[in-house]
Amino acid sequence: MSALDDPRWADWRWQHVSAATSLNDVEHLFPGRFELSKADRAQTAEAAERYAMRATPYYLSLAEQASRSDPVWALAVPDPAELAENPADLADPIGDEAPGLRPHPALTRRYRDRVLLFPTSLCSVHCRHCFRKRLVGRPEEMPQSGELDGALDWIASQPEIHEVILTGGDPLTLGDERLLDLLQRLDAIEHVWSLRLHTRLPVVNPFRITEELATGLGRLRTPVVLVAHFNHAQEVAPEAEQAAQRLRAQGVTLLNQAVLLAGINDTAHAQRELSWALIRAGYRPYALHHADLVPGTAHLRTSLDAHLDLQRELRGTLPGWALPRSLLDLPGGHGKLPLEPPRLERGAQGEWWLTDLSGQRHRYSG
Ligand code: SF4
Repeated sequence: MSALDDPRWADWRWQHVSAATSLNDVEHLFPGRFELSKADRAQTAEAAERYAMRATPYYLSLAEQASRSDPVWALAVPDPAELAENPADLADPIGDEAPGLRPHPALTRRYRDRVLLFPTSLCSVHCRHCFRKRLVGRPEEMPQSGELDGALDWIASQPEIHEVILTGGDPLTLGDERLLDLLQRLDAIEHVWSLRLHTRLPVVNPFRITEELATGLGRLRTPVVLVAHFNHAQEVAPEAEQAAQRLRAQGVTLLNQAVLLAGINDTAHAQRELSWALIRAGYRPYALHHADLVPGTAHLRTSLDAHLDLQRELRGTLPGWALPRSLLDLPGGHGKLPLEPPRLERGAQGEWWLTDLSGQRHRYSG
């Protein structure tokens, strides 16, 4: 029986626990649907030993074929190219662990008015390009007992913090009780004026957006912004559109951040298709991130020149508000910067320089 015929198909918890971690699992979930060779299995298993595979049955069902030219397959299934080492790779590519940025083990603070809160290290998928590969899916990276209480106490003691960004891992992998309890406790802090959720669940497990969850978000005093992570129009399926409708009905602001990925969405056509699919679903295409220098992802990265050329090509071909802003997270924890002058400059040797918010210049080596 195909997983699509399973009566639990639309149960988000079933999707989460039934995630495939090997091509054998894929075959078991979808007998006969994908053509898989012995060589595919061996290569995938080898790559998955270094960087684990995890993909919900729903997400895999969006793949049209078992091929690296299929964007969903390529984002879900380990590729032998991940085993190649690249001198530019960084273990902590955006500097989450940079000195001075962790006021508490469950928090990262790069900006005066915002803080990242990590309530879990679990995700429903292991995205091949993930910038937190070293942490996701590792139970030992979960907040220890009492750590979230300590993080909330710290936020409550800092009146200049106005936005809390729940990230991870994926915060929506928490059950309603824990997630809504956490949000309600943040909601009770008077100087918190915005609650942001960074999540890929609307893409890979849209059943997670239940009426109960959407209603719970709508009841909070503090406005909720949900930033999803769709990378390709093929991911914006009818189930994702229905999930978006449930959130919109409760007044949740919907934004999307994509990552520019070679061979997946690095053409103007793919970006336009993605933006229009998002607009139709009610998401504002907000950011297009330059791929971070994550180990095992050199084959998915584009050059900065290619990124800027694409940005130029897109200008004028989408509504201005729907043109995602190109951003780069500077290694070392120096923050997110727009890929545009005056922050971005070309050096005399053709190299790129970026100026961070404190005025410090950094040579970009990607
Ligand atoms: S959902 Fe986000 S944190 Fe989780 S694996 Fe994907 S990119 Fe990484």
